[in-house]
Amino acid sequence: MSAVLRVFKLKIYANKNKLVKLDALIAWWQQEVNKKINLYWQLPKVVGSFPDKETTKGGRLVKDASQKAWGIVKSAKKQTNPQLPIFEGSEIDLNEHSIIFQDFTTRAFDLWVKATHLEKGHRLVLPCKKIGRLNRAIVKGGKLRRSAKILKVKGKYYLQVYVKVSEKESNPTNSKLGIDVGLTNAVATSSGKFYGKDLRDLRIRTKHRKYLKKISPFKQGLNHVANQLTKDYPSTDFVMEDLLFKGKKKRSKTFRRRNNNWAYKHLANRLVQHGELEGFQVIKVDPAYTSQTCPECKYVDKENREGDRFICKKCGYSNHADIVGAINILERVSQAHSVPESCIEKERVYNDGIETLHDRTGKQGAPTNQEHHSKHYGDLGGDPQKEG
Ligand SMILES: [Zn+2]
Repeated sequence: MSAVLRVFKLKIYANKNKLVKLDALIAWWQQEVNKKINLYWQLPKVVGSFPDKETTKGGRLVKDASQKAWGIVKSAKKQTNPQLPIFEGSEIDLNEHSIIFQDFTTRAFDLWVKATHLEKGHRLVLPCKKIGRLNRAIVKGGKLRRSAKILKVKGKYYLQVYVKVSEKESNPTNSKLGIDVGLTNAVATSSGKFYGKDLRDLRIRTKHRKYLKKISPFKQGLNHVANQLTKDYPSTDFVMEDLLFKGKKKRSKTFRRRNNNWAYKHLANRLVQHGELEGFQVIKVDPAYTSQTCPECKYVDKENREGDRFICKKCGYSNHADIVGAINILERVSQAHSVPESCIEKERVYNDGIETLHDRTGKQGAPTNQEHHSKHYGDLGGDPQKEG
């Protein structure tokens, strides 16, 4: 069983007083790291994982800053032409002794983080908002790392936390479901169902709005579709079109799709993430002719399709065009050229992006894990890609 490290950025809700303290902390941290960089730079040899204890005295944060500087100097010295590095990052690495996660709930916030503060014996208490995907990852047995990072991005503060998730192998006895992402109805399944029917209107309504800090409602809708599919089809592998598949002919459909490729990818990525926790896979198949082939008699003709309707010119079979697409996609899975998604995208990096702060789906489901730090975490949800 392999494991992936997922990264979640939680927004820190800091009042003015706390902002001042955080700013001071960031400034102090930069200074301290650079001070230690200068110190370690003088050393004839920088080896081992930890700096000499004598140089890290002065409290936990000094220790963390020294550790940071040690790593920076170590990698800088490895360069062919080593130059004294300068640390300019607006981020603070908090090792496990410098941070306490606390899950007592108030009306407004459901995760509080206590970070060691500059003044001795004082801790800076930072309220963060619960988010669902992090919550789910922990409920599914993911291990929250006891270290974290405070980040300052465009004047706002975030707490970056890490969850180690064991990937569940997909069960070979899983059933299969074909999925087609159409332009009119967001998602059609080979079982004849539609998901996210309201997505199209939502997209039109919100097309020209900018969502710099928040996840777009359309992506939220897709996330919801992924949640729903996972819930409605347990022990099921999902079969989708491989948009990058290099087949003989697939242009017409790819062309038709050029505006919703990102939606397709967003949904696929989301399902892959669910699959790693739940033990199913997303299988991608050759999309050629999936919109023109009759599922009954296999007759291929682009005339079979007329807008949303599919009517076979040969046998008269008719259905919604997107359902037909999903059925054909499912059929492809038995063919030799299908590749499990998990085999082709192993190097994914899970970074949930700061643009995605309030995943509404995060509020659902009460965690059952009794471990004290596992209760109230939330999710930033979504991927950081720009839509379009
Ligand atoms: Zn037919």
